[in-house]
Amino acid sequence: MSTKGKHTICIHEGEIKDTQFGGAVSPIYMASSYSYIDADPMRYPRYFNTPNQEALGIKIAALEHAAAGLPFASGMAAISTTLLAFLSKGDHVVLANEIYGGAFNFVVEEFEKMGIAYSFTDGVGVGDFEAKIQSNTKVIYIETPSNPLLTITDIKGVADLAKKYNLVSMIDNTFASPINQTPLDFGIDISIHSATKYLGGHSDILAGAVAGNDEHISKIFHKGKNLGGNLSHFISYLLERSIKTLALRVEKHNTNAQAIAEYLDNHSEIAKVYYPGLKNHVGHDIAKEQMNGFGGMLSFELNKGHDAVVFQQQLQLIKPSLSLAGVESTILQPAKTSHALLTPKQREAVGISDNLLRFSVGLEDVKDIIADIEQALNG
Ligand SMILES: *Cc1c(COP(=O)(O)O)cnc(C)c1O
Repeated sequence: MSTKGKHTICIHEGEIKDTQFGGAVSPIYMASSYSYIDADPMRYPRYFNTPNQEALGIKIAALEHAAAGLPFASGMAAISTTLLAFLSKGDHVVLANEIYGGAFNFVVEEFEKMGIAYSFTDGVGVGDFEAKIQSNTKVIYIETPSNPLLTITDIKGVADLAKKYNLVSMIDNTFASPINQTPLDFGIDISIHSATKYLGGHSDILAGAVAGNDEHISKIFHKGKNLGGNLSHFISYLLERSIKTLALRVEKHNTNAQAIAEYLDNHSEIAKVYYPGLKNHVGHDIAKEQMNGFGGMLSFELNKGHDAVVFQQQLQLIKPSLSLAGVESTILQPAKTSHALLTPKQREAVGISDNLLRFSVGLEDVKDIIADIEQALNG
């Protein structure tokens, strides 16, 4: 494992030396066909081992404090391949009740057909996970901080539970990024990312990543070869380029989001703020133990007198957008987007009111972000 600092790892780990011209950055290898005579490994893009894919896998592994890493064509390719690598007909998986909507859909739309049983927890306490374990359970799957309420799960508690029952533990580490959270240090087996978010960070690529020990990554590799959700050379290069500034970006996301969370928390027009960096967040104490920073994502609820749609229309700088984790500030109303398919009653049950807004705090100057919110609240 690299003993270098995070910024150095972001910039240099895994880079391909340009021995021909001495260029400062990894060359892009465009070949999809490589010699197999006397070649080890036999390279092919679907084997995750073209030079640019390999470079990325090494960088991701180092960031996650893992032995090995693999890039994928999307976060969902990483999630689906990883789950299917460890679940077969007759097996059962325990999943946190608050997980990314695409992961939820994958489980409820596909697993029954494959003969895989699943249970969602009733809460995110360690006891909530233990309560759902059955004799055929093979995997525990968590997401912390979660989307959109930034709920915090005790990573070490769940990892210990998984060990006690001999289960493979997986985390969707997208919201924290490996800069703020390295779950393998707490005993989690596999960390998964939508690299479309902070790892990419510029709202212009779709990618995913997985990190874990050699044995686990080998299983995911074999499943991935069959499923084919591999990352192209161009995007591999762009992701490597993006990660060079990951630590720098995430540190600024952290300080901006903390400042905005405190501003909103003290605002008379805001009913509630969800940010793990606030002392009044229910998961704050656990977050402090397992996170190096509290991240760039927060959610807040406008007072009843406000209309969330009107508020978003008034915003000048902050863009209403579906995705998140870019350098620019973006905002989304879960009731109209990610949670639109739930009934108002179901939404209420999971704490998502019509006036809840999920805010991906960008890297603009805090004073400009605050001024935009202020004018939209007054507008
Ligand atoms: C976006 C997202 C995903 C899915 O990633 P894609 O790259 O869109 O496939 C998974 N988990 C979380 C937490 C996400 O935000």
